[in-house]
Amino acid sequence: MNILLVSPLTPDTFWSFNHVMRLVGKKTAFPPLGLLTVAAMLPRDWNLRLIDMNVRSLTDADIAWADAVFLSAMIVHEPSARGVISRSNALGKPVVAGGPLFTSDADRFPEVACCVVGEAEEVMPALISDLLAGGLKRRYQAVEKPRVSDTPLPRWDLIDGRDYVTLSVQFSRGCPFDCEFCDISAVYGRVPRVKEPERVIEELDAVIATGWEGAIFVVDDNFIGNRAKAKRLLRAIIDWREWRGVRVNFTTEASINLVDDPELLDLMVRAGVKNVFIGIESPQEESLKECSKVQNFRRDLAADVRQIHNAGIQVMAGFIVGFDSDRAGIFEYQRRFIQEAGVVTAMVGLLTALPGTRLFARLTREGRMTGRSTGNNLDATLNFTPALDPEVLTEGYRRLVKELYSPREYYQRVLTFLNEYRPCGPRARLRMADFLAFVRSLWVIGVAEPGRWEYWKFLWRSLVSYRRAFPEAVELAIRGYHFRVVAESL
Ligand code: SF4
Repeated sequence: MNILLVSPLTPDTFWSFNHVMRLVGKKTAFPPLGLLTVAAMLPRDWNLRLIDMNVRSLTDADIAWADAVFLSAMIVHEPSARGVISRSNALGKPVVAGGPLFTSDADRFPEVACCVVGEAEEVMPALISDLLAGGLKRRYQAVEKPRVSDTPLPRWDLIDGRDYVTLSVQFSRGCPFDCEFCDISAVYGRVPRVKEPERVIEELDAVIATGWEGAIFVVDDNFIGNRAKAKRLLRAIIDWREWRGVRVNFTTEASINLVDDPELLDLMVRAGVKNVFIGIESPQEESLKECSKVQNFRRDLAADVRQIHNAGIQVMAGFIVGFDSDRAGIFEYQRRFIQEAGVVTAMVGLLTALPGTRLFARLTREGRMTGRSTGNNLDATLNFTPALDPEVLTEGYRRLVKELYSPREYYQRVLTFLNEYRPCGPRARLRMADFLAFVRSLWVIGVAEPGRWEYWKFLWRSLVSYRRAFPEAVELAIRGYHFRVVAESL
């Protein structure tokens, strides 16, 4: 069989990093790990082609070649995914669709021949034999959650790693917490399922075997959901680094209780984790209570951020405005917190109600739902009636994001971070590609674009006062350029 695997086009979002791809000489930020993993579940003698539409466009000839089109999409991909479905249907090719977009509401896509709802592992054998027999069912949904250690190694041979800023691995699925707005525990469960260390090392070896030397994103929603198992893995990674002599760095996501376990934090540093994304959501206690963010209660969140920076890991964090407890002063409260804590990469979103969440159920009960989530929490659209005046909320939100990413505020925040940051642990080798990205950024950010004086002042201060962290300063200036362009378009 000829199978075409398609990853749709990602719109311009906070995480797309579209505006800096020309600076770093890449085509897109993240590879389609889910699709590469599904590809590994298909029979070895089938012919597979993968088109990541963020790397190259999809042609009718690609679709015509296929016996079936496998499409994996997040909610934010809906417009592009709908285009792929209608083109495939027009050419008479059945679409097998999976991922969060179809898991959240498969009934909205009656034109799709077959939807995989939830995780694919358990249903793939039946789906493959039905496809061979020409009798695909409309819906496949597993009863049991799969053991993630049995998931096959992603088919890295289907993409060119050089097109991507990071490559990815997955250690766990699920999260022990149950924040009201989040669908992770509903979709993947509250008992994290983890891979054995040997299995993750195999995945890392497969990534390294592609010739990869850059950053690796451990895509778990909460890497420390099972702390004992996370520590076992980190020890194995430390040994693996020494034994293999590899110099890759890691980025992952975790909950703030990371700082309560100094051993865990130390192991992460020694394993080469350089960035961790944490859902801080709000400095306001009532808002945290409202969304059941129990792990963030009664803490000095700014001190927690500084502790992680002191250890040598940069905190990237998510913030939300639009909780019922938020009043008009929340925007300034959030801005001050983010600046003072030195959270450089602050993803501030408007609260959105995703299908399958407790928030969605509550707002539906209260008759406050007004539409669907776009999956892009930076597009300043509301899908429910907030307690605060909607105009005040969206305007306050826009102003907050624009202020945070104005050159003065942004570079000041980077300097606050650099002042706390103690670079330690293994570091990636600086490559020619990094040097070229620096030179291109000097031209674009330092000459061609507004904010150039703030940039040169920042670069000079970083060089004089934080020389050891100068590579991080350059990288943050490049990322900041993307955030600024996205913020200005709000
Ligand atoms: S800690 Fe993060 S992943 Fe876990 S439920 Fe809360 S928001 Fe979701």
